[in-house]
Amino acid sequence: RKGTAVITGASSGLGLATAKALAETGKWHVIMGCRDFLKASRAAKAAGMEKGSYTIVHLDLASLDSVRQFVKNVRQLEMPVDVVVCNAAVYQPTAKEPSFTADGFEMSVGVNHLGHFLLARELLQDLTSSDYPSKRLIIVGSITGNTNTLAGNVPPKANLGDLRGLAAGLNGVGSSAMIDGGEFDGAKAYKDSKVCNMLTMQEFHRRYHEETGVTFASLYPGCIATTGLFREHIPLFRLLFPPFQKYITKGYVSEEEAGKRLAQVVSDPSLTKSGVYWSWNNNSASFENQLSEEASDPEKAKKVWELSEKLVGLA
Ligand code: NDP
Repeated sequence: RKGTAVITGASSGLGLATAKALAETGKWHVIMGCRDFLKASRAAKAAGMEKGSYTIVHLDLASLDSVRQFVKNVRQLEMPVDVVVCNAAVYQPTAKEPSFTADGFEMSVGVNHLGHFLLARELLQDLTSSDYPSKRLIIVGSITGNTNTLAGNVPPKANLGDLRGLAAGLNGVGSSAMIDGGEFDGAKAYKDSKVCNMLTMQEFHRRYHEETGVTFASLYPGCIATTGLFREHIPLFRLLFPPFQKYITKGYVSEEEAGKRLAQVVSDPSLTKSGVYWSWNNNSASFENQLSEEASDPEKAKKVWELSEKLVGLA
């Protein structure tokens, strides 16, 4: 039978390119979890995805109610859930003030980490009961949350500190909107959220890989300098960033190539190892990359997991 992959944020960029790459093989049905149904439907059509190769289900990760409703709606489709890809993200590098999700969490960590944390925890049941031979839960990471790399050392650096802001609910009311309890910084909030993504993937691996047989993985697909992720950046940055990445850092990758990379992590029979953070070299060959000290700290992963459970109402 065909595999079924759930992909969040499949209405643009990496998520759309991955949905298209998978659907084109004829071996996958894609459930696109998107906040804007019309945009997703237009994007899938414009990308040339065949009708019947995908289903769009509404998902707003900035609301835990919406996440829970999404899980219900996916179950009602009566399709197995064989792979889940947590891909959607917001990046607000120029925001002066924090904005908040429906549940009152700072937006970047609320959407990128907490919304996905609840989604992944809920859908783990569905993955576990699927009879697909290689079941996978993938959380898209980033080099920018990784301070052992050059790109990860561009200030402001990711740093979760002692997690006091997360423990206090990240709501900016009487407490900080930042995980480490510091001053709000939109670029740092994004990087912190990506560190949480990578810690979550490893904690899933430690807690559930043996018991469920599910492969847990993260990846850095390369710098996809053309996606909407940079939509809130200043115009000069948006103009110069793609050529800078292409010719100076040489880390540039097209949306199509990045989509093929993520599609490999979804379906390639050689990428079944669990607990791995995948990257690609200049010849587009995949390898198991090292994470920064903070992004691979098991104690921190456990604490982030436990605090996140409380915030999303699982504990
Ligand atoms: P895009 O902005 O193109 O895609 C992000 C997607 O997330 C969009 O589909 C967007 O929906 C969706 N989204 C945003 N907020 C919500 C929400 N509240 N609920 C549901 N969906 C939401 O960026 P990319 O494709 O570049 O990013 C995809 C992933 O790749 C992210 O996890 C990012 O961190 C990661 N990444 C990107 C890199 C890059 O260089 N671009 C490098 C490394 C990692 P909508 O279409 O409605 O706006």
